[in-house]
Amino acid sequence: MDTEIPKCPTCDSSIHVVLVNTTQKIGTAVGGVAGGACGYYGASSGAVTGAVIGSVIPVVGTGLGLLAGGLAGALAGFFAGSAVGNQVGEHIDRHVISEYRCNQCGSEFEI
Ligand SMILES: [Zn+2]
Repeated sequence: MDTEIPKCPTCDSSIHVVLVNTTQKIGTAVGGVAGGACGYYGASSGAVTGAVIGSVIPVVGTGLGLLAGGLAGALAGFFAGSAVGNQVGEHIDRHVISEYRCNQCGSEFEI
């Protein structure tokens, strides 16, 4: 991990300089949504299993089984997807865009 922060060209200090992590935020959101959707559909087989097991108690059990399976998959997919999106976005911000902002003077600069 490189956590090196560049100096602000105006203040000549790195104390208030932060990485502009726009892509990281977008990546987290997009990854979460995509992962949630994939997880939901990926879990449909699990949801069907849940529905079959739940069918021991007809109608109510079937619905609950489907719901639980689908939700669990979507939730797991969301967290996995957002974690991946966060990592990918941070990598792009840090190594591809490399845009920094100084919170002291407000200037933005690239390295
Ligand atoms: Zn500055």
